[in-house]
Amino acid sequence: MKLAERTRLLTPPGTSKMRVLANELKDAGINVVNFAAGELDIDTSETIREAAKAAIDAKRNVYTPTMGIASLRQKVAERVSAHTGVTYTSSEVGLTSGAKQALYNAAMVLLNPGDEVIIPQPYWVTFPAQVELCGATPVFVDTHDDGYRLRAARVQQAISPKTKAIIINSPNNPTGTLYEAAELEKIAALALEKGLWIIFDECYASLVRDGHRHVNIVELVPKLKEQTVIVNSFSKSHALTGWRLGYTAAPSAVIKAMENLQGHTTSNPNSIAQYAIEAALSSEDGSYIAAVNQRLQQRLELANHLIAKMRGIHAAPAEGAFYVFLNVASTFGKACNGAAIRDVDHLCELLLSKANVAVVPGSAFGEPSGIRLSYAIGEQDIEDGLTRMATFFNAIY
Ligand code: PMP
Repeated sequence: MKLAERTRLLTPPGTSKMRVLANELKDAGINVVNFAAGELDIDTSETIREAAKAAIDAKRNVYTPTMGIASLRQKVAERVSAHTGVTYTSSEVGLTSGAKQALYNAAMVLLNPGDEVIIPQPYWVTFPAQVELCGATPVFVDTHDDGYRLRAARVQQAISPKTKAIIINSPNNPTGTLYEAAELEKIAALALEKGLWIIFDECYASLVRDGHRHVNIVELVPKLKEQTVIVNSFSKSHALTGWRLGYTAAPSAVIKAMENLQGHTTSNPNSIAQYAIEAALSSEDGSYIAAVNQRLQQRLELANHLIAKMRGIHAAPAEGAFYVFLNVASTFGKACNGAAIRDVDHLCELLLSKANVAVVPGSAFGEPSGIRLSYAIGEQDIEDGLTRMATFFNAIY
């Protein structure tokens, strides 16, 4: 069978591999703690559930306009305007089937084959995959030595005459760090000077831990609006990953090009989800997300307390989203059951088989010295899983 060349670029996201293995063990009756998920375990709000049922009863079953129903586009434009302090009209926003489609639209309408795109490393797996699907080349900028925060000086070093765009993801997946305003301002200045696009993925913008603040790059540098594609999602903020609803905000010519593309790929995003989110945006008082953040804060504190007991393991500053990223390089080469731990993938296999704990190896994010854990799971699971991990780590020394 002869498949297209581009299928060589397509491999399953490394993030899903561990989830699959963990579920296999669970099905076999083994008590596995699964830190590998990328979604909240908390249910979506009652307002949204009720509005979705009402939309079904109101027979909202047919196609909507490709970039979303007009009233929702208007509400999203207001939301982005309020968030950035810069006015966006409804022709400057569009609804997509999750942030993933917004990012793919952006890549497809902005990139030509041969273009270079700067991507901070570690990265969410889909960024380089989508760039490559467009025939463009990812250029990675390491954040490891900078506490997993993107530094403008490193971005500057990576810029070449072929650079077309910079992808920024803050709060970050997989590290949970927030990029600093001062650095984002300098990166914005570079983008303005060199005429580069900024693709600003802020899917976790509303999930920020106590004492921290997420800043949008357009909020910091309003002039950058004309060169920025903001990508956001209701997946994480409203706990409805499976409903597939995200959005993008960009200059109207970009949104128009995305509309033309989306019109030939998926058409409108899920109609029921659109009506449900519209209801949520009309009545939102912030209490749902405040409760989610409070819960995540407690879980992070519990997790940090237990991680501190792991010898030789260090966590990246967990400031947003719901991930902690642990540097586990000190375990490589150490003996476990008589054999040396080869690398992070081997370590994750051992954690699963010996400690019955599923985590995502950093190799999936281009960072082979770390592992990602989600703390958006039950408190008891956090306690059991991290206690088992501490026992595992403390035994290999
Ligand atoms: N960007 C980042 C950084 C993510 O972590 C994810 C989901 N894991 C997405 C985009 C895609 O989200 P959605 O479900 O809205 O497609």
